Amino acid sequence: MGIDGSGAGLLVVNVRVFDGLGEEAVPGHVRIERDRITEVVLGNPFPRTLRGATVIDGRGRTLIPGLTDAHVHLFAIGSTMADLQHGPSGTVYYQALAAARDMLMRGFTTVRDLAGDTEPLRRAIDRGLFPGPRIYPSQAAVSQTSGHGDFGSVHDTPTALGGPQARTEQIGFTRVADGPERVLAAVREQLRKGAAQIKLMAGGGVASEFDPLDVLQFTPAELEAAVAAASDWGTYVTVHVYTSEGVRRAVEAGVRCIEHGHLTDEDTIRFLAERNVWLSTQPFEADDHHYASPESDRKNREVCAGVDRTFGWAREHGVRLAFGTDLVLDPGKAHRQTEMLVRLGKYLRPVEALRMATSGNAELFRLSGRRDPYRAAPLGVVVPGAWADLLVVDGDPTTDLSVLAEPERNLHLIVKDGVVHRNELG
Ligand SMILES: [Zn+2]
Repeated sequence: MGIDGSGAGLLVVNVRVFDGLGEEAVPGHVRIERDRITEVVLGNPFPRTLRGATVIDGRGRTLIPGLTDAHVHLFAIGSTMADLQHGPSGTVYYQALAAARDMLMRGFTTVRDLAGDTEPLRRAIDRGLFPGPRIYPSQAAVSQTSGHGDFGSVHDTPTALGGPQARTEQIGFTRVADGPERVLAAVREQLRKGAAQIKLMAGGGVASEFDPLDVLQFTPAELEAAVAAASDWGTYVTVHVYTSEGVRRAVEAGVRCIEHGHLTDEDTIRFLAERNVWLSTQPFEADDHHYASPESDRKNREVCAGVDRTFGWAREHGVRLAFGTDLVLDPGKAHRQTEMLVRLGKYLRPVEALRMATSGNAELFRLSGRRDPYRAAPLGVVVPGAWADLLVVDGDPTTDLSVLAEPERNLHLIVKDGVVHRNELG
């Protein structure tokens, strides 16, 4: 952390500005005061005297909004499965702190966290105690018994039948609940703890060992209970699910966003567009995740085989797509967060991908309504009044995403909430 935009502010001059909304970057200058962008002046050179402000000369580089990631697991990207299941909670928390710092230094200034007790982390970061992105916490991901978030041992008696609580529940990573009443309680528990949105596991998963990918999780009544509890608090439910049946059941219950969807058929993708439901899917490659169990490895390959067609159909039918990475359980793969953004170039023009990873994701985040911790200002855009989250990049990511794959080399300025976290422009 260094200079901030307090006092007369910070002026970034001689940049090409991509505002997060348009088609291209255009010459201009951006003023920051405290935590907001207060002025965006287009044209070249800067038309007024520079008196008062701290001036950073961008020397023709590209200024873009801070990047966003709609699907992260701060608890599970700093940590391994062994840490989550057997380690001290402190290990998980401190590693989450380091993962948050690393995300910010890759240029991600806002993330939506989809499992874990990250509200306290958000508060500490927002107070400026540690560097990290803005966080939209879901708190614990809610799962049924034997669902994707049930990390008990296969031969344990389920918690609901008097068995022991899995460690992942004790540390606030997951919450297992069955039946509408207990689902209501579980969802309300997360809302009480500061969840900005609610995450449910609505179908089989890769990392969990005893739920095949095809299984449906939570009955319609349970899903409806979760949606009712969330909407009473002014926010929404997003679900982990891969299959067509699972997607349809969730949407019929009022779920507003689907995580993954890689095994969904074309009709169901079209159905998402008709219902105006978001698809937060990920451009996975098989080696993004490593699984010790051969069954998880097989499931991972099945999911990855669906990536191309899912993106293709979503594009074709105009589904609202969000960009997220869902990297988990392998701290050595965390740096792929930006590589996965570059992979969007396979399906989208660079500027479309960049819009998705800035203003597009921000629109999804805004579904949190009054539970949105950052609702006071526009997010993911470079416009007057917006949160002062921006990057200056060597190269032009609106025409070449690959410059984002090497953040240490190409991100010359990182500003979040008006605070300069990296400045290599002097
Ligand atoms: Zn996930």
